[in-house]
Amino acid sequence: MRRRDFVLAASALASAGAQSRKTLPSVLGPLAAQDLGVTLPHEHIAVASQEITRSQRDSLLSLWDMLGAQLRQNGVRTLVELTPADSGRDIALMKEVSQSTGLNILCATGYYVASARPANFLSGGVGAAEAYMTRELVEGIGDSGVKAALMKVAVGGQPANPSDNILLEAAGRVQKRTGAPISCHATTPDHRRHLVETLEKHGADMSRVAVGHADTNATLEESVELLSKGCYALYTIWGITNPRLIGFRGEVAADHSGRLIRGLLDKGLVKQILFSIDFAPTCLRGEGIDLHLYEVPGRTANYAFTFVLPLLRKLGVSDDEIHQMMVANPRRHLFGEG
Ligand SMILES: [Zn+2]
Repeated sequence: MRRRDFVLAASALASAGAQSRKTLPSVLGPLAAQDLGVTLPHEHIAVASQEITRSQRDSLLSLWDMLGAQLRQNGVRTLVELTPADSGRDIALMKEVSQSTGLNILCATGYYVASARPANFLSGGVGAAEAYMTRELVEGIGDSGVKAALMKVAVGGQPANPSDNILLEAAGRVQKRTGAPISCHATTPDHRRHLVETLEKHGADMSRVAVGHADTNATLEESVELLSKGCYALYTIWGITNPRLIGFRGEVAADHSGRLIRGLLDKGLVKQILFSIDFAPTCLRGEGIDLHLYEVPGRTANYAFTFVLPLLRKLGVSDDEIHQMMVANPRRHLFGEG
């Protein structure tokens, strides 16, 4: 091969490599889009309002050993861990769980609802929130050696309160600058409308925004309106029927989330639907762990396979549609690929 041909071949290879090397940081290192696989896009390894004790840690590790094996057996490859630092995010624990279960774990920067945010959040304004999230996405989280893969943006309380507005403006700006995906918590139509409008106003690419708990207090009409913005609806209620436990304003039927998905599929919106369980084992003050099963026995992350898939199949959802919702859509949301 002549030198000029060699140089051309090498540069063609390098650019092909650059495309296929597109990765997101998992807690154990770079993860390529093709290795994402079946994904549960809104879960928690653990939630805590204080430091996790040694014995809580041991219990969580055994819990995840058991649960990880069930999830792997059902084909899951990746969990998106959406616990922000203000809710007990524990990167060392995530690394241990990822190592012992073989599941990829993507972790988040960002903030939970206003009442959980640090005391100086309001006074720091948009600039401080923007700098914090950018640092965790680009440089890494403390000295953990791990970078956040996405932003968690939770809104609540009075819709459009000043603290939420700071967070939404900061997240929109960071999304625009870094390209990082956003996953949200918004439990009423008013919160969801304000959230998507504000993120969009501040530059976020709506195809990289997933609106979590979009089935809470939702009708099919509201979900369709939400998706007209180009974002994803991420459903998490699945089988919870006690409205008091999830702030629902009316009755909740066990098949509520399934029927919403059926309706969206009938309208041709399969490419904008995500679902997860939002399993959130919560470390109690002192000792003990509350599994937060919402009075539904066995409602762990594996409920996606023991309840959600059987329900969706009963509603006529096809294997191809399930694959799109559990593999193709998480990949497009997280990696931004067509
Ligand atoms: Zn959650």
